[in-house]
Amino acid sequence: HAAMQADELKEALLEKDRAYLWHHITPHNDHPMIVASGEGSWITDMDGNRYLDGMSGLWCVNVGHGRKEIAEAAAVQMTTLAYSPLIQSHVPGIELAAKLNDWLEGEYRIFFSNSGSDANEVAFKIARQAFHQRGKATKHKFISRHRAYHGNSMGALGATGQAQRKLKYEPLGVGFSHVPPPYCYRCPFGQTSGACELQCAQAYEDAIIWEGSDSVAGIIVEPVITGGGMLVPPDSYLPKLREICDKHDVLLIVDEVICGFGRSGQKFGHHNFGVRPDIVTMAKGLTSAYSPLSATAVSAELYESFKESGPDSHFRHVNTFGGNPVSCAVALKNLEIIEREGLVERSALIGRRMRSRMKPLLRHPNVGEIRCFGSAIGIELVEDKETKHPASATLVAGIIADCKARGLLIGKNGDTVPGFMNILTLSPPLSSTDEDIAFIIDTLLAVFGAAGGTSE
Ligand code: PMP
Repeated sequence: HAAMQADELKEALLEKDRAYLWHHITPHNDHPMIVASGEGSWITDMDGNRYLDGMSGLWCVNVGHGRKEIAEAAAVQMTTLAYSPLIQSHVPGIELAAKLNDWLEGEYRIFFSNSGSDANEVAFKIARQAFHQRGKATKHKFISRHRAYHGNSMGALGATGQAQRKLKYEPLGVGFSHVPPPYCYRCPFGQTSGACELQCAQAYEDAIIWEGSDSVAGIIVEPVITGGGMLVPPDSYLPKLREICDKHDVLLIVDEVICGFGRSGQKFGHHNFGVRPDIVTMAKGLTSAYSPLSATAVSAELYESFKESGPDSHFRHVNTFGGNPVSCAVALKNLEIIEREGLVERSALIGRRMRSRMKPLLRHPNVGEIRCFGSAIGIELVEDKETKHPASATLVAGIIADCKARGLLIGKNGDTVPGFMNILTLSPPLSSTDEDIAFIIDTLLAVFGAAGGTSE
């Protein structure tokens, strides 16, 4: 009887879902899974099926699901002060801005918003205004990379370098152009990994010169292109971009929306490469997605240039929900958990373990390359290892479906070769237990074993 009631409830919900809810970036006839609850690295659907959340939602639930102490921190803040705009100040906002300075290991001013897209829009506006105030108002353009994703709003989508996300919505914000990404497996410059002269970084300098360095305000990069195919650059790539920016008075904006808060195995992805950005944008892992919040961290020098430019030089940008006190309290508790449980180090360990135990996958005829950055993993599937022709949609869908049937949710992205989504992604919660990690690896080994073999 109870089972019948549960079935009826689910059917009624599905009916309403089909009638009223518009799902994000999903074909309209797809039938959704209704997720009912989450605990640790696992989520449970309405039928009681458990899945390991191998992507931490959208690369964001860094501390895992079901953290009661975060809910308690939110409840305390909500009953103390649910809202006050950051035109004034509030305690969790102050404490979080200070805490982020510890995490950034540098002096930064923090501007809070709601989403990663917002944080990037703020970065672009601050960069443009800063050059206005320095008497260089012609510097307004931004250069990004093909395959980059920087958000859904008109400016952030302008910075995005994925044609399939932009078609039908153009024209977007103006002043954005793109250079080829550091994609060593399919080097856009025909070079061999480890034996090149970083033509991909040089492309940035060439683009600045061709655009006219007097017209370029900033370049924006993720430390590693994550959503665009897990493209890990050579170690000296980001330091070289820093040099190019200094030479041409161009701001280095680093998008840490995914790489930040431990995902890279360090506090922020740019720490892995030893560079100091002028502006850092962050979201997702800042609250582990328990509540919406993002931040744009601006170097102290850049902020001072606003203060010194006279009484009318404040940043004319306001955001009703940005830096909501409840979200700030959630972020503070989230960061406390990451620190207390050593989850940054845990992320590095998870990455090392997955990397070493996944090696047998490379023997599979369709696994072209496995790329890792901290605990974020990309598995590039090909039809043929010699030609590197991308794997078919059927093969990719089959692997993902078999993982799901065995209780593991993984992601896919790609279009690094237009039309092909042939890169599987994994980015499990940083709090994943040894058993969770073993489950992920054993499941992948079984799925690839069943789909063509991984033995010699
Ligand atoms: N930058 C990067 C690197 C991202 O991956 C994303 C989201 N996936 C964004 C920005 C945009 O964040 P949001 O979806 O919160 O607007």
